[in-house]
Amino acid sequence: MKIFCVGRNYVDHAKELGNAVPEEPVIFMKPKTALMQSNAPFYYPEFSNELHYEAEVVLRICKNGRYVDEYSASDYYDAFTIGIDFTARDVQAELKKKGLPWEKAKAWDNSAVIGKWVEFTPAIRKKPILFSLQKNRETVQNGNTENMIFSFDYIVHHITQYFSVNIGDLIYTGTPAGVGECVTDDLLEGFYEKEKMFALDIK
Ligand code: MG
Repeated sequence: MKIFCVGRNYVDHAKELGNAVPEEPVIFMKPKTALMQSNAPFYYPEFSNELHYEAEVVLRICKNGRYVDEYSASDYYDAFTIGIDFTARDVQAELKKKGLPWEKAKAWDNSAVIGKWVEFTPAIRKKPILFSLQKNRETVQNGNTENMIFSFDYIVHHITQYFSVNIGDLIYTGTPAGVGECVTDDLLEGFYEKEKMFALDIK
């Protein structure tokens, strides 16, 4: 099982971190040990002093594929949820400065949170997904997939030019503006429209 992540897929988020708007998807991966198991406690990582949340729509791959064209890409994912791509922003800043890979900042154990799954229906596929993240019951991120630079279908197409996708793989599709710090005892809750998808206490 693989976890793909798209970086800088919303213009307002690319700008808030001072990054250029990408011309092709920025792709990185997390290992399966990054996937947070539900009901397990989430501990603030000891190697960071600046833990950031990034709320994202996560797709679930339902079909094995390689070289998938954009027009059949929607056959390859059957459900979505809201998740968090946790980032040790201080570690990432150091790595970026040195031009080094991001894994120490992004791919550590439990850095990939997911909520409950929503099956795609034809009606859900047709409209944008509205999602949000609350920190201590205040909304800190609001997302609308209509504002993605690269669509779900284009992302699947692009990823499969380089990698096979397999049943059960996940794709984090990027975060909108509003990323920020969280600390011990914060409560993070992800929503699809008004429905709560996960609640996470930072210990
Ligand atoms: Mg992200």
